[in-house]
Amino acid sequence: MPWTYGLSLLAVTILDYIVWRIVKDVIVCYECQAVHRAYPPNPAIEPFSLVIHDRHVFGAAPPGAEE
Ligand SMILES: [Zn+2]
Repeated sequence: MPWTYGLSLLAVTILDYIVWRIVKDVIVCYECQAVHRAYPPNPAIEPFSLVIHDRHVFGAAPPGAEE
């Protein structure tokens, strides 16, 4: 039923928030994808970058990426 779509979206948003409250942010290694949890927030660690990720995984920045 189409009219439930908005309600479902709200439910997913709330669920997402609850899950985030439990797991919090994680630090993932670009090299080996190791997941590090429960570390204190570190301002030196920047948000995930696809450019950095691709450079590690494919050896080059993604096509069209600005460097
Ligand atoms: Zn690693």
